[in-house]
Amino acid sequence: MSFDVAAIRAEFPILSQTVDGKPLVYLDNGATTQKPQVVIDSLVDFYTQCNANVHRGAHQLSDEATRRYEKARDQVARFINAANRNEVIWTSGTTEGINLVAKGLAQQLEAGDEVVVTEMEHHANLVTWQQACLQSGATLRVAPIFDNGELDLETFKASLGPNTRMVAFPHVSNALGTVNPVKELTAMAKAYGALVLVDGAQGIAHGDVDVQALGCDFYAFSGHKVFGPTGIGVLWGKQSVLENWPVWLTGGEMIADVTYQSATWGALPNRLEAGTPNIAGAIGLGTALEWFSQLDIAAVQAHEKALIDSAMAQAADIQGMRLIGTAPNKIGILSFVMDNAHPADIGFILDRQGIAIRTGDNCAQPLMHRLGINGTARASFSLYNTLEEVSAFFAGLRKAQTMLG
Ligand code: PMP
Repeated sequence: MSFDVAAIRAEFPILSQTVDGKPLVYLDNGATTQKPQVVIDSLVDFYTQCNANVHRGAHQLSDEATRRYEKARDQVARFINAANRNEVIWTSGTTEGINLVAKGLAQQLEAGDEVVVTEMEHHANLVTWQQACLQSGATLRVAPIFDNGELDLETFKASLGPNTRMVAFPHVSNALGTVNPVKELTAMAKAYGALVLVDGAQGIAHGDVDVQALGCDFYAFSGHKVFGPTGIGVLWGKQSVLENWPVWLTGGEMIADVTYQSATWGALPNRLEAGTPNIAGAIGLGTALEWFSQLDIAAVQAHEKALIDSAMAQAADIQGMRLIGTAPNKIGILSFVMDNAHPADIGFILDRQGIAIRTGDNCAQPLMHRLGINGTARASFSLYNTLEEVSAFFAGLRKAQTMLG
C-alpha cells in the first residue's frame, strides 16, 4: 500500500508541536483539519508576490491574482468532477453555501410545499431550512434515524411526495460518522422531481466525491475541513439550476448593467459571487485539493478505516463507554458518552495529556435530544493520524476514567 503516514505528517508543521510538554495528538478533524506546508506557502506566496484584486486587470498584479484565483476554480471543478467550472461558486463555507440555496428557495416556496431533512442534521443544514419554511409557509419534514445513527430509508422514502421541493441531507454525519447512501437518497428524491442538496462538510475530506455520479443538484463544503484555509468554501450546483437561481447577495462583480433604477445580473459563476472574494483562501483551497488528489485515495481510505476499526475495537474494552453512532457504514468519527463522566471533563483531562478532541452538542442539539443525551465527547480522525495516536487516546481515556472515579 503506497501510503506513508510518517511522510504525510512531515508535511504538516503543526503536528510536531507539543502541548504542555506532550506530543500533540490532534483528533478534532471533524471541526477543522490541519494544513500542509504547500497550502501555507500558497497563502504566503499570494500575499508576497501578487496581492491585488481580481477581474479588474488594468495591471499585471491583478492579472496574476486573477490567473491564480481562477486556476483554483479549475482545481475544485476537477476534484469534484464538475461538468463545468462555472458550476463552482465560492462561498465562505458550507454554512454560506446552504444559505445561498435556502434563501433562494425561500423566495419560491409556498404553503403546501415541503422540504425534507433528516434527524442527523448539523444546525447549518437544519436551522437554515427551518427558517426558509417558517418564512414561506412551507412544511419541514424530518426523516428519522434508527438508534444506531443510520437513516431509516423506508421512512425517508415515505417522507417524500409530490409536494417535496427540496431534500437536504449530510453526506457524512459530523456527530455520528454515518455515511449516507447519497446516490440512493437522491434517486428517491428525483422520482418526485425534488431538488437535492448534499451537505458535504464532512464528506469532502474522505475523497472521491464525484458530483455528477451522485446525481444531486447542490453539494456544499468548507475549505478548512479538507486541508484548506478557513473562510473559503464551495457551493457546487448544476449549471441548469444555478443559472436561474435567485441571487442572494448583490453588489460588485455580480452585475451586468446597472442604472440608478435597476440592474441586471452577470453570468455564472459571478452572478452568485457578489463583492471581493476571499482570493487567497480560494488559491489555498485549490492548492489543498491538488495536494489531496495526488495521494492514493484508496490507500487513504484504507488507512482511515484502520483507524476507526481500531478505535471501535478498543472502545469495546472500556467499561461504561457508550458509542453514539454505530451504523455499519461509518467513517472517521468516534462520538461517545461515559458513565459518571461529563464530556467536558473528559475533554479537559485529555487536553492535559496533549490530546485534542471535541465535546458538546456537535452543533446538532435536536439530534442529541433524539438520542436522549445532551452531548458527546468526539474523537475524529484524518489521514495523518496514526494507530499509535488512537492507542494514546484510549490510554488517556482510561486515565480520565480513573480520575473521574
Ligand atoms: N455541516 C456539517 C455536517 C458540519 O460538520 C459542519 C461543520 N462542523 C457544517 C455543516 C458547517 O460548516 P462551516 O462551519 O465550515 O460552515
